Amino acid sequence: MKIRQLLRKNIAAMEPYSSARDEFTGKASIYLDANENPRPSDLNRYPDPLQRILKTELSQVFGIKSERIFLGNGSDEAIDLLFRAFCEPRQDDIIIQPPTYGMYKVAAAIQDIEVKEAPLKPNLQPDLYSVRKRTGPNSKLLFLCSPNNPTGNLINKQAIKECLDYFPGLVVVDEAYIDFSPGNSCVDMLENFDRLVILRTFSKAWGLAGLRLGMAFAHPEVIAALNKIKAPYNISQPTQKRALQALEGIAEMKRQVEASIREREKLSKDLLALPYVHEVFPSEANFLLVRVPTPQKLYHYLLQKGIVVRDRSRLPRCENCLRFTVGLPSENQKLLAAMWDFKFKE
Ligand SMILES: *Cc1c(COP(=O)(O)O)cnc(C)c1O
Repeated sequence: MKIRQLLRKNIAAMEPYSSARDEFTGKASIYLDANENPRPSDLNRYPDPLQRILKTELSQVFGIKSERIFLGNGSDEAIDLLFRAFCEPRQDDIIIQPPTYGMYKVAAAIQDIEVKEAPLKPNLQPDLYSVRKRTGPNSKLLFLCSPNNPTGNLINKQAIKECLDYFPGLVVVDEAYIDFSPGNSCVDMLENFDRLVILRTFSKAWGLAGLRLGMAFAHPEVIAALNKIKAPYNISQPTQKRALQALEGIAEMKRQVEASIREREKLSKDLLALPYVHEVFPSEANFLLVRVPTPQKLYHYLLQKGIVVRDRSRLPRCENCLRFTVGLPSENQKLLAAMWDFKFKE
């Protein structure tokens, strides 16, 4: 299946908006083409709609070509655009593998796309039989999240490859947390699998959730489709500038990640020492999923101590589970102190 054939027909046929900055990309001394305010300031000009300088740097850092990189207002924008480019409302469907990130379902609902669920197996790996059973001719997107939110485990690369072999649409691997599991990215598979899409974000390891910058890595035709339908200036100038700065600090980011991993392992051990903690899921991310006897009661107890965690107990395979982000050492100490004081028997 060619990527062009996967596109919605109206998207393939449409003429995209052409901005002033699309039509003229060279250097001039006088810009009278975009109705900007001519008085010079740091922000009086529109930003580069295709973020070329930033993509050149990203291409160095991640070892992939610029034409395989899309930048969005968070990776949530990339998710939304994948639906808008590839899924025909009320006709196509997508497959998700719960328990997983909630945005896939929301983005599907917005576009009126049917969501088929193939839950992960008890070992939290894809149930390939179930995925295959739910896959039909109108299945356009298959989502995998690795490391998975909220369970924290990596998805086997072999399972991802098997999905790519028989799934007719795009296989989207959400790697929001992969920086916490160095060496396990699927980026090296991009050259060999045209229908693979990898999602990355600056919101987690890079410490820039407030910036709103996400990435999709994919075949140039997929990237071209997303660029065709995105808002012309979707990444602001300050965002592009701040991201370039962040890339210069990659060594510091890696040091922080190592510290966070050490802290995660310590917190995991400390949580398991609590008599009422049944299970702490092994994690390759910056959070821990923890099974307790009375999750709602513990959730409200912690809240009343000023500590907010995430209740994931209604998701399949996450019965009685709360999700804790790994915080600063001092924050984790306070969490543990509060949890030791929790009267779990009453
Ligand atoms: C946090 C998270 C994201 C990040 O989304 P942004 O829009 O880039 O902030 C994406 N996917 C998963 C699974 C996440 O947990």
